[in-house]
Amino acid sequence: MALTKLSETAPYDVEAVRADFPILAREVHGKPLVFLDSAASAQKPRQVIDTVSGVYETEYANVHRGLYYLSERATTRYEEARATIAAFIGARHEHEIVFTRNATEAINLVAASWGDGLDAGDEVVISEMEHHSNIVPWQMLRDRKGIVLKVAPVTDDGEFRLADLEALIGPRTKLVSITHVSNVLGTVVPVADVVRLAHAAGAKVLIDGAQGAVHAAVDVAALDVDFYAFSGHKLYGPSGIGVLYGKEALLDAMPPYQGGGEMIETVTFESTTWAPLPHKFEAGTPAIAQAIGFAAAVDYVTALGIENIAAHETALLNYATQQLAQVGGVRVIGTAPGKASVISMALDFAHAHDAAMIADRSGVAMRAGHHCAQPLMARFGVESTVRASLGLYNTRGDVDAMIAALDRVRHALA
Ligand code: PMP
Repeated sequence: MALTKLSETAPYDVEAVRADFPILAREVHGKPLVFLDSAASAQKPRQVIDTVSGVYETEYANVHRGLYYLSERATTRYEEARATIAAFIGARHEHEIVFTRNATEAINLVAASWGDGLDAGDEVVISEMEHHSNIVPWQMLRDRKGIVLKVAPVTDDGEFRLADLEALIGPRTKLVSITHVSNVLGTVVPVADVVRLAHAAGAKVLIDGAQGAVHAAVDVAALDVDFYAFSGHKLYGPSGIGVLYGKEALLDAMPPYQGGGEMIETVTFESTTWAPLPHKFEAGTPAIAQAIGFAAAVDYVTALGIENIAAHETALLNYATQQLAQVGGVRVIGTAPGKASVISMALDFAHAHDAAMIADRSGVAMRAGHHCAQPLMARFGVESTVRASLGLYNTRGDVDAMIAALDRVRHALA
């Protein structure tokens, strides 16, 4: 009964949406593709593909430099893309959006530039469920500056408890840098509460939104976060483009991250002055078509409605969780209430890599490994999991195919 109701109240026509994604029509190993790895990188709708090729076909030139028509058009579209993304995450100013290669580069930018102002003994708090890209840059800063890295735990269910974070925040805490949504557990961090705690102690907050911006509406100004990092390719846009949002006053006070063209005002051999925001942080020729394609992806997601996408994914996650409960020998790692549509599984009948390879033979694409979160794997006592992540185009049929594939894995290895 409950399941029938889910489809009656479907937030959008998923079959119509799937038709926008040409790759979903292909076969793999002679079987229809069942793509369950959107948390690693999502597939692209025709609207994004056409936008990117359209730029190359009709409007491509380098930005910010040319006085001729094409360069002006490319510049306008690149800057319009920035405005689209600023509106998408509720930034007050377009120049608070810095284009980077990806979320990883955005976090590295903050660690290298803002982090340069930290002193030995200053503390940065992260969590146990961070992706390596929100661990390693802080370790590099620790090695460079002598900062102290503290790690907030998660519970056995993968829950994040504010009290555990609060216990680590003290007078030397300068930054809380934490994921919005865990790419392994699906756990959703209550960002507004984290910001309240951190700000009360005089610390700044960086949110790794690589998974967050995909599953929930983000309003950086309302949340009052200091930095928010995310990637285009997980949001149904191109790879090679990401964003660092930073509050104007913070970005203004930060030194450049890389030097080169585009980020300067004037250069002599004696000294150089920096370009204003955001260009101070965008050295070199940027990913022009990718930024414009990213804006097309944001338009696509916005038209569908991020709340509708979240509702669709939650319904599918609930269905998958029900179905998986009937399959023996599967331990889902990460069962926090309100979690996002990421399902990490430890199988007692197969190694994760074997499971992913066997599933692939029937067209089911799942990720196996440590998901760039080795400390979290260690915390749960596993080396790897097989992970299914559900995106806006997945269906119950995809979940059924995953269950059937797990069954085949069990029999293949019996
Ligand atoms: N943080 C999280 C939570 C992620 O899931 C990922 C990607 N798996 C990243 C950061 C890094 O994203 P990117 O590789 O696009 O920089």
